[in-house]
This record gives sequence, C-alpha cells and structure tokens, in this order.
Amino acid sequence: MILDIVKYGHPALRRVGARVAGVTPDIRQFAADLIETMHAAHGVGLAAQQVDRALQMFVIDVREVKGRPSWLERDGQRVAVEAFMPLALINPEVKPLGEPVTGPEGCLSFPEIFADITRPESADVTAWNEKGEIVSFRCGGLLARAIQHEYDHLRGVLYIDRMSGETKRELRSQLETLQAETRAALRRARRA
Ligand code: ZN
Repeated sequence: MILDIVKYGHPALRRVGARVAGVTPDIRQFAADLIETMHAAHGVGLAAQQVDRALQMFVIDVREVKGRPSWLERDGQRVAVEAFMPLALINPEVKPLGEPVTGPEGCLSFPEIFADITRPESADVTAWNEKGEIVSFRCGGLLARAIQHEYDHLRGVLYIDRMSGETKRELRSQLETLQAETRAALRRARRA
C-alpha cells in the first residue's frame, strides 16, 4: 500500500522514533509499504516519520541513481550493493566513519529542494531487517549518505539542520513557502 508522505511543516518530521519492540506481521507489512511508497516516489530512502509513524525504522534503495557509486562490505568483503537492495533497517545503529564529503541531497518531504550537505564518507551499520535478522555492514558513497540522512529522520533531525547558513539563506523563501502550505493543509484537514 502506498502511504502519504508528509511534507516539511508537519510535526511528525520532528518526532523521535520509538524503538520497534519486535518484527511483528504489522511491522513487516509496514516495511513493505515503506518500500512501495519510496519506489512510487522515486526516492533513495524513506523513514517512518515521513509517513507520520514515529518508529526507529527506514528503507533504502540506491539502485535507481546512476553515476553516484556506493559500496558495501560484509565481514570485510566487498559485496554487490544491488543484491542487497531494497533494504529495510529496524532499530538501526549507525556510526559514521571517514572524511567528510560534500554532495547534493534531496528529501521526499522537501519536494524539488536540493542542497549540498557535508557528511562522513562511510558508516558502520547494525540493524534488524524485515525478517527480524541482525544485519551488519560497512558502506560508503551514496549508500552511506542516504543511510545517514534517514538515520537523522529517526531522531527528528532534517537535512536543513545540516545545511550551511548560506545555503539555508538561499533556500529560505522556498522552505517558508513549503512550511506554510503544509500547515495550511493541516488546518484545513482539522476543520473538515
Ligand atoms: Zn529525508
């Protein structure tokens, strides 16, 4: 089922996600719905907060993006990123590693708003997958960027919080317009 993605200005985006107690049929279905919603929106990642459900889980699929490589290692061995996608990560722990790199980022809750964000190049990740198995890997490139972006969502942190002051000033009117539209839509929905 495709879920509604909330936009900037919706309070769900600032909520800290609750830990998932167990991988129940409901959570498994939710992971499948997040993946379906992400694919329908042509996104690289989607967090539970973005569909108004504050939980510690997100999904990732970097296969659609060409020209921005990713790498993945399990037990010190490089493995094919494509074979690992799509990925649902539940109660993840993400430890960023390596030198900071700057690259463009977007977010499905901020349509058409792209900005350069600086983050560490790689990350160590441990989480449950949608089967309740523990997955552990090291990743880099676009995959590490996407995972750090989604991990931020789980704590109510948004990529605008990581933009330079200059970038945020340049985008200010777009951000204010989006926030005002979202809040107006929420007020209309409450009155209806
Ligand atoms: Zn996002």
